Amino acid sequence: MEYQILDTTTVVAYVLNNAETASHFRDPLSVKAREIGDGNLNLVFILQSETFPQEALIVKQAVPYLRVVGESWPLSRERMRFEAQALMLYEQLAPGLAPKVFAYEEAMSIVVMEYLIEHQVMRQPLVARQKFPLFAEHLSTFLANVLFKTSDLYLTGLAKKDLQSRFINPHLCKIQEDFVFSNPYMESPENKHNPLITDEVSAVRQNVELKLAIANLKEKFMTQGQALIHSDLHTGSIMVNPADTRIIDPEFSFFGPMGYDIGAVMSNLMMNYMSHFAHTADAEQREAHQGYLLDTMRSLWNLFAFKFDALWVRANTGELVPELYWQFEGGEQAFARYRERYIRQILRDTFGLGACESLRRMMGLVTVWDVGSIENAEARASVERRIIRVSTRWILEHESFMSVEDALRIVTEEV
Ligand code: ADP
Ligand code: MG
Repeated sequence: MEYQILDTTTVVAYVLNNAETASHFRDPLSVKAREIGDGNLNLVFILQSETFPQEALIVKQAVPYLRVVGESWPLSRERMRFEAQALMLYEQLAPGLAPKVFAYEEAMSIVVMEYLIEHQVMRQPLVARQKFPLFAEHLSTFLANVLFKTSDLYLTGLAKKDLQSRFINPHLCKIQEDFVFSNPYMESPENKHNPLITDEVSAVRQNVELKLAIANLKEKFMTQGQALIHSDLHTGSIMVNPADTRIIDPEFSFFGPMGYDIGAVMSNLMMNYMSHFAHTADAEQREAHQGYLLDTMRSLWNLFAFKFDALWVRANTGELVPELYWQFEGGEQAFARYRERYIRQILRDTFGLGACESLRRMMGLVTVWDVGSIENAEARASVERRIIRVSTRWILEHESFMSVEDALRIVTEEV
């Protein structure tokens, strides 16, 4: 089908004309579509049967521009191919942790997927102090499996490069390169910040050691094709309920450093932690929620590291360090040391790269709702200053971290 932008009428015809997607509905005439507005980049429709409301699908379509800005900002529709490929690969590598894909059409830049009817985007409930006790367990399984099984630790060099060649995603990488790693820390017309933190923002932009470290982190992001990363894994890309966790919206995915994904989650949990100094006046309630967030960050890292290592021991089949390489007196211990060193570097990358995500949210193009929704400018500034302090220290100190406790201690020191 030739590309055309769908609306709430044509999207229904599109889905019912395809036998595979039409088969989701027992009463096709009762299917109605509505567009859900919070998509920044794309059109997202919910198609739902009025007769059988449990029968529903999501249709996501890329438009040839950045939706939040408009047609003046062209953006390749190819992003929907990366999203479809990534979602389908997630289902193979970490089953049940992303929405199922029912159809994908490249010419139309459309993905038809499972409607997560019982889930919420994680960001809002975290502001409302809801807890998701299985989240760290689920997300660590997702991250360990997807990152390990798309890396040189598991795949042969040929298989990995073949997969990587299908994820060369220059246009969406450019968005992160600009808006996470450069523009927020220099004069740039789209930057915004709370006028009350102008001093802190200028201090960041003039901090020599910080700028050197951010440049190194940007180079890592741009050049280390370590594994297939989601590359936009903030708490708005995770849908949850107390029993289940799903990763959505992998249109930015490409082969980059593993720590960027784990770090995006860590820094978004840290921003949520700090936002409660404004959202939650009652100290007891606030401390309980902040304690839950620290426990979640700790478990996420520790479970990830444990699962990643276990996968590696079980299947060291990749190009990087073959079994035979360790076949010598002391080789087993050497392999254990190598794994420990490798995983420690992921930890350091997690907090270095993750801190760029939280720092940019304080002074770049887009904030996060956790902080942006604090109406009182003074209260918001005091949250933003804390986030700037933690992010700055994570960036300056991450290369010396030995365990997740080193990162968490900084959070509790900068309250
Ligand atoms: P964009 O890439 O345009 O930002 P998202 O993939 O983030 O779009 O989707 C926008 C919103 O649509 C999400 O925040 C979520 O509320 C909703 N959404 C997206 N995918 C699903 C899904 N599979 N099931 C339920 N809701 C979804
Ligand atoms: Mg998106």
